[in-house]
Order: sequence, then structure tokens, then C-alpha cells
Amino acid sequence: MKKERLKAFVKEVEACWPAVLGTMAEVRRPCARPQCRACAEGRKHPGVIFTYMDQGRRRCLYVPQGFVAALREALGHGRRLEQRLRRMGADLIRDYRRQRDAQSPDREGP
Ligand SMILES: [Zn+2]
Repeated sequence: MKKERLKAFVKEVEACWPAVLGTMAEVRRPCARPQCRACAEGRKHPGVIFTYMDQGRRRCLYVPQGFVAALREALGHGRRLEQRLRRMGADLIRDYRRQRDAQSPDREGP
């Protein structure tokens, strides 16, 4: 049973590569051009920012426009794997009980 779980999990991880935890948000940011009209008028420039936690500290990075779609997909994978890991404890406990009860069917209790 353990082997089957491992195989299923590895398959899922492979299907979820690359996986990322964090969030993406659209922002408006100023540029470095001295005479920029968009910045002077306060419109600034659209950009995407990626936020993630690193050892309890929040960190942010601007996402290159060409990488936004790939990162969005990776964040979806990350959520899927996170969900999978959250359920893993209950799955393993059920597996353990099933195996234990198969070995000694008379045993009572959780
Ligand atoms: Zn500007």
C-alpha cells in the first residue's frame, strides 16, 4: 500500500512540475524615464508582482511579462500539491488502519 501511495504521489508531482507557492497580483509601477507622461499623470505602468514567503519573511519580485502565464500555471500546480499534502495525513492513517485490521481483524478501537 505504501508503495502504491508513493507511486501515485510521484506521478502527481511529475504532472505538477513546475510547482510554486505564492501569489501574483497586478500592480502599477513607475519607470525610470525622466519625462514619462504615464508616470507624470499618475497612471504609471502595469506590471505583475509575485509574492512568496521565505522563512517567515514576505518577499516580492516583479514578474517578466513573458513569464506571467507560466507562473500562473505553476501556482495552480502548487495549490494542487499543497492540497494533496494536506490530505496525505488522513490517507496514511486510513492506510495504516486498513493494514493493521487486515492483519488482526479482531482488534478494536481506532
Ligand atoms: Zn513611466
